[in-house]
Amino acid sequence: MQTAVFPGDRMISLAEAAVPVPGPGEVLLRVRRTALCGSDAKPWVKGAKVTPGHEIFGVVEQPGHPLHGQRSLVYIPVHCGHCDSCRLGDTHMCQTISVLMGWDMPGGYAEYLAVPEQCLLPVPDDIEDDLAPLLLDTIGTTAHAIRFVMRLAPPREPGAVLVTGAGPVGLGGVLALQHLGYRDIFVSDLREERLQLAESFGAQRHPVGDASRKFRLILECSGAHAARSLGMEIVAPRGVLVLVGESDQPWPVQENKAIRRKDFHMVRTFYFPKGDFAANVELLRKEKARYRRLVDARFGLEQLPEMFTRFAAGELVKPMLAFS
Ligand SMILES: [Zn+2]
Ligand SMILES: [Zn+2]
Repeated sequence: MQTAVFPGDRMISLAEAAVPVPGPGEVLLRVRRTALCGSDAKPWVKGAKVTPGHEIFGVVEQPGHPLHGQRSLVYIPVHCGHCDSCRLGDTHMCQTISVLMGWDMPGGYAEYLAVPEQCLLPVPDDIEDDLAPLLLDTIGTTAHAIRFVMRLAPPREPGAVLVTGAGPVGLGGVLALQHLGYRDIFVSDLREERLQLAESFGAQRHPVGDASRKFRLILECSGAHAARSLGMEIVAPRGVLVLVGESDQPWPVQENKAIRRKDFHMVRTFYFPKGDFAANVELLRKEKARYRRLVDARFGLEQLPEMFTRFAAGELVKPMLAFS
């Protein structure tokens, strides 16, 4: 089979590899779509020991197995099913296994991968291939962040919400916020075309760096230090700042009176529990037309090096690697 290799230094090459042989409790998945994700910029720059790609949709190809032919997404946290977290439904925070598909085990920038059976999320037939991967990071991660906040600190009155960063996660966040009942949504980003897309979804623009207004809820989706620091400053008293965007850089927090003199929540959420999946499928069903607008390219494996470069430069929102 063909697979992508990420040696580092912003390079991607293609290689021939043997089709993986599934181990006990695993099945072989023939990949149909893998969405590009901004977090893959890290293996792109630094290199990866395994094939990256973690927003994976495909079909189980294991004749004789009960799951043969099942259209499935790959839920990336491998989980044991019986630790304290798993028993509470927090499958994304398993305490005995700390392995992510596409990060610690081979991922979806290849024609096939072996997937532990508990990591298959069956996709209903009315969800088309191009939209299926959005059920993971774009919808799963953002909807979980919002649901977590609604349980932690139910808004006393529905105030204005700010989304910082209008990439696929931020834009997916706007749609999830609307679906979960928020109406007054502002978005900040440096890219004009992304702001226009957010506006077409019913959000209003908020200037990057503007500290003149306070927000009850801030969904920080950029991972940028400046946006995190500003978020702490402009989150309203008793409000919530959610750090959804990824960054593995140390974050220096500046001494600032506006931060010291108020009660507020700063929340980190990661991915989503498997139990959210059915509700997220419903969310996607209701909003298919708008989510479809995030998918702005579809291409084959041979184009991955070029398309990843364009994606990393911010030219594309949610391009899909597609296998026929
Ligand atoms: Zn991702
Ligand atoms: Zn567990």
